[in-house]
Amino acid sequence: MYQEIHTENIAARAHAPKIAELLNRFTLHGRKGRPVCYESFAAAIMPGFGDDLVILEPTGDGDYRWIHYGREITRYVGGTRLGERLSAMQPEVAAFTRHCAERAFAEGRPLYTIHRAKPTLRVAIWERLLLPTVARDGRNLLVAFSRPLQFREDLLNAVLDNSPSGIVALRALRGDGGGIDRTIIVTANRRAADLAGQPGARLLDREAREALPFLADPTIWKRCLAAMEQQSGDSFETAFTRQDRTSWLRLAIAPLGDGLLLTLTDITDLTVANQTLQSRAATLALEVGRERATRRALSEEIGHREEREKELRRLAETDPLTALLNRRSFTERAQAALAEAGAEASLIIVDLDHFKQVNDTYGHPAGDAVIRAFADMLLGLLRGERHLVARVGGEEFAVLLRGADAAEATKRTAQIQEALARRALPASETLALRITASYGIATRRPAEPLAELFARADQALYRAKNEGRNRIGTAGADADAVADAA
Ligand code: GH3
Ligand code: MG
Ligand code: MG
Repeated sequence: MYQEIHTENIAARAHAPKIAELLNRFTLHGRKGRPVCYESFAAAIMPGFGDDLVILEPTGDGDYRWIHYGREITRYVGGTRLGERLSAMQPEVAAFTRHCAERAFAEGRPLYTIHRAKPTLRVAIWERLLLPTVARDGRNLLVAFSRPLQFREDLLNAVLDNSPSGIVALRALRGDGGGIDRTIIVTANRRAADLAGQPGARLLDREAREALPFLADPTIWKRCLAAMEQQSGDSFETAFTRQDRTSWLRLAIAPLGDGLLLTLTDITDLTVANQTLQSRAATLALEVGRERATRRALSEEIGHREEREKELRRLAETDPLTALLNRRSFTERAQAALAEAGAEASLIIVDLDHFKQVNDTYGHPAGDAVIRAFADMLLGLLRGERHLVARVGGEEFAVLLRGADAAEATKRTAQIQEALARRALPASETLALRITASYGIATRRPAEPLAELFARADQALYRAKNEGRNRIGTAGADADAVADAA
């Protein structure tokens, strides 16, 4: 326990101005080394100093009893000790007080002391002036001036009043069983009153749960009780609504004596800003989601369109009866193929023989079926290769053999002719017809345009027809030749 005892320079050491005054009166009352008479001294000082004085009389068994307990001291301590014994006090404080009293009587002179007591309602540090007097009946009576060290409270108030946080100290009042009956606010700054929604109100001495709305929440109160019982700190955030306005607080709690110190920080603006930010983020996420969905739909639409376009292009490029290239797209592709530098190629033109008769005899639909079957056969023979196969007229076909010289072209044409000779082509479900065709082959001369190549193959075909049909006509480099099928 902190303590100081002084016999010298008391007036200079004392904080309360009344101590110097009182000391002066005491010196005037003591004459020529004789002790100060209690009755006359008390009569002189009681009117002006009584509220800050206690008077202790010895009980005769080594203890003392209060026979006066000043009003101001009662206020600071939170109750009067009038009539009680000194030994009922905190043992350390009681022992210190007894020691000082005995020393004052023994030395017959005033003592100035400072001590730290176990915190009473509002004060922990006291200064005292102890004055030994002797009553007319010979009893030693101690007159003691007691004041809290005011400057400490001023400092504390300055700190509290200027703190941006709300600060509240609670004291637990316990029942006989040791359980907490009430929790009383013993210190609270202005900011705490503001945050409690009671600006300007006095929170002091009020029941904490009634004065502070955020303690009304049972879970929060539970945590406060736990902190008091377990002497451990805690911290959390809480919302409470007052007059239709929701406030958010960060609450830090720390045990303080038999009670709690609460530090309150207003985080309403922070929380509102945070919520705004979160809701904006959610809106943004929604918009991003929508945008993505739109983009996905768009890319699907583009995909569909591309497929449709491909289909349209395919339809535009192919012959509907046989699905071979039509004349226009054959011409385009053949020209592109020949444009490749040094491209070697041979062209075969095939015309079915006496086809008018097929139509005349079996009907046009049968003729169509035969044309389709011949196209399938042609495609089958050239499948998987990069040759171009087209239907260029009614019953007339063209094949561009890429990279084929005259010998290769003749070999390939003979294969077609042989394949046709081997099979009858289906004209209907019940009818298959054996037909023949005539062929004209031209092998491309260096840099020869397609039109010329076509014309030479056509001439070769014409000769094959003229020479009896079912023949392969070849446009030679110098002399044209026609080969018999046999
Ligand atoms: P060749 O070529 O041997 O001289 O005799 P051809 O009867 O085939 O002669 P031409 O070229 O004069 O006649 C072609 C015939 O092919 C005329 C037409 O009836 C028939 N034809 C043309 N296109 C089609 C078609 O798409 N379907 C059918 N069924 N017949 C067609
Ligand atoms: Mg024809
Ligand atoms: Mg014909």
